[in-house]
Amino acid sequence: MTKRIASNVWQLHAARGCNVYAVEADDRKLAVVDCGLRISEIMIREINEILIETDLREVGYVLVTHKHRDHTGGLSSLHKYFPDAKIVAGEGDCFFDTDNQPWIDANPVSIVVSGEMGSITELTTNIKGLPLPGHTIGSLAFICEKSGVTFTGDAVISHVNTLARPLKFLNADDTLYLESLKTLASLATDIGAPGHGLIIEHSFAERISDLAEQPRQKMNPSEAYRIIKGLIAFIRLRRRKNV
Ligand SMILES: [Zn+2]
Repeated sequence: MTKRIASNVWQLHAARGCNVYAVEADDRKLAVVDCGLRISEIMIREINEILIETDLREVGYVLVTHKHRDHTGGLSSLHKYFPDAKIVAGEGDCFFDTDNQPWIDANPVSIVVSGEMGSITELTTNIKGLPLPGHTIGSLAFICEKSGVTFTGDAVISHVNTLARPLKFLNADDTLYLESLKTLASLATDIGAPGHGLIIEHSFAERISDLAEQPRQKMNPSEAYRIIKGLIAFIRLRRRKNV
């Protein structure tokens, strides 16, 4: 069962590995934001239910926030279900073949969003792509002003009562990432839809601004040990549950 998080924006319940969203793009087409680790029949049914409920024609776009596997593992399968959907990805996360054709995880990319900090790409009448280099070099946020929702990928991690940044060592370039977070703060909408954790239902831009102002704290060795131990336990649990 899908959850509507704003007008014309839904969160797919059956997603695995990361949050997956659907948003009305334009021209009676739906866009899917990220895919998770894999696609299930239930997830496809959820997408089809949205199409029927809203009278939209088809899935026109798959918007990839970044290339990490928990966000793109299901991309090939999703593309098989919706072969006409255009895959949108950031320049820095694309592989360019000898004919200069862009690919992400063995899937052809139809729209490459420039990686230039601060530039905005108008993808559809409702959705803009914003480069956020740092977590990965080609990381993107997608902004839907009409619905007031910003899809952030892993630019922020949302816990029950707090917003956090990805750990420094999980970012490809942390200096660039911290700069990107400030850019995101200046352009984000009121509702935040992160790649993991809970939806931020209001004051998202203000909360990102506060987060961007906070200096990175030096991690002491026992704290680092605790976090790494937690990550290993999480990965083991996920393998055991096979999600
Ligand atoms: Zn990531």
